[in-house]
Amino acid sequence: MYKLMLETWPSIRGSCVQLWDLWGGGVWHVGLVSLFLLLPVSPCARPASISGLSGYQGCDLWAPRNSGGLPCGVSGGGAVRDEAGDQSRGTILLILASGIGVKAVQLTPRRWLNLQEYQSKKLMSDNGVKVQRFFVADSANEALEAAKRLNAKEIVLKAQILAGGRGKGVFSSGLKGGVHLTKDPQVVGQLAKQMIGYNLATKQTPKEGVKVNKVMVAEALDISRETYLAILMDQSCNGPVLVGSPQGGVDIEEVAASNPELIFKEEIDIIEGIKDSQAQRMAENLGFLGPLKNQAADQIKKLYNLFLKIDATQVEVNPFGETPGGQVVCFDAKINFDDNAEFRQKDIFAMDDKSENEPIENEAAKYDLKYIGLDGNIACFVNGAGLAMATCDIIFLNGGKPANFLDLGGGVKEAQVYQAFKLLTADPKVEAILVNIFGGIVNCAIIANGITKACQELELKVPLVVRLEGTNVHEAQNILSNSGLPITSAVDLEDAAKKSVASVAKK
Ligand code: GDP
Ligand code: MN
Repeated sequence: MYKLMLETWPSIRGSCVQLWDLWGGGVWHVGLVSLFLLLPVSPCARPASISGLSGYQGCDLWAPRNSGGLPCGVSGGGAVRDEAGDQSRGTILLILASGIGVKAVQLTPRRWLNLQEYQSKKLMSDNGVKVQRFFVADSANEALEAAKRLNAKEIVLKAQILAGGRGKGVFSSGLKGGVHLTKDPQVVGQLAKQMIGYNLATKQTPKEGVKVNKVMVAEALDISRETYLAILMDQSCNGPVLVGSPQGGVDIEEVAASNPELIFKEEIDIIEGIKDSQAQRMAENLGFLGPLKNQAADQIKKLYNLFLKIDATQVEVNPFGETPGGQVVCFDAKINFDDNAEFRQKDIFAMDDKSENEPIENEAAKYDLKYIGLDGNIACFVNGAGLAMATCDIIFLNGGKPANFLDLGGGVKEAQVYQAFKLLTADPKVEAILVNIFGGIVNCAIIANGITKACQELELKVPLVVRLEGTNVHEAQNILSNSGLPITSAVDLEDAAKKSVASVAKK
């Protein structure tokens, strides 16, 4: 792979000399992610930074949580900016793919904002979508009170976790089912007692399940028919697509596999918006008849408008049901959001429930660091997602396995470097640390000062291999060598990988 890149690169180098110059060694780091296509639409004329590579924002690095063996990809696009940082001078498109890289990426617990059902339903009802009346409770007693207050003929009690499949899940308390129907408020209290504080394991959670902190107590409605409806951003349609099936409620994946003809799609032109005819056709395909057809179409349009308004990447309603009384109701809801829209969806992002995150990810986020846990023993301390993947690749190529990577990002401060080291060394799997920093926006001297301070204060016990390149690198090297600390320095990425793998093997 490495060789392939070396051979391919000169043929495109001519067309983007400026990029080559401004990236210096940087190109090589990125290029090491095995297959690298660089297509400059217009070559830039002045020094620039590549926004698409400096973090997750422009460089899409994705894998669903607990994705197991799902195919994953890495792709990125970024605007090339001049030094002032605000003027777009060209566009580059990057396609990165790698057997080894993807292996590392597959393990990435990248987490998009994902709201709990009760939060999604609140957004829905605020936007005219029909959901059941409900309360949220975080103790059995509160659940009992809520059930009484609902004053409903029948009550549905639902454990709130981010994963689906709750209906068929099992609690660590022994209770079966994360969704229960009852007419008796007392029973709500008893069931909630066996839910809150226990783990609920479903098809979509890790084996040990996810801890339940809250339950939803809602007015149950009779369901005469369950359909499936989702709106998602679909790359192959270049925009939003409506997906529906008259056979909802159950696993939609099974329907898709056994009865693909029962899955209906409507591609939506994001500029024109959803057309009445599309909403009507979907309602009909879902099997809504008579006056229910118009009602369903109206709900579909409202769901689409919500999808756009809140910058969702997915709104999934399963079941999208019908009641014997002739109402179309969203009985379950799952909404995912585009993380890049955080700046204009502050209220929604403020609802982020991080309790289902890895604690270490939360700790890293506090200091504006991105931590990704992997399962090897070499900690990678890097800046930029591209460099992180290249570093993981080259560790693999040299026979090692990364334990994690911690992305410092740009504009880093000394205190962050210290915190980053604290996080990395807290992981008991870590047997060596590889620092691989390319100083573009980042000043290497700041990193070097942070490293020496961290090593002294944390009494670092594992071997540390440092490879710094770029802005202020000589000063940084002086700082490290004058520190008297047992730091192994490396001349390049390959050397760094070899030395860190060797330091682990020696132990
Ligand atoms: P999931 O299993 O995590 O997808 O949770 P859902 O909210 O979809 O609930 C699972 C199942 O419980 C649904 O498919 C419905 O069949 C049933 N259910 C949920 N709410 C109600 C309700 O208000 N009334 C009735 N009769 N069934 C419900
Ligand atoms: Mn459901």
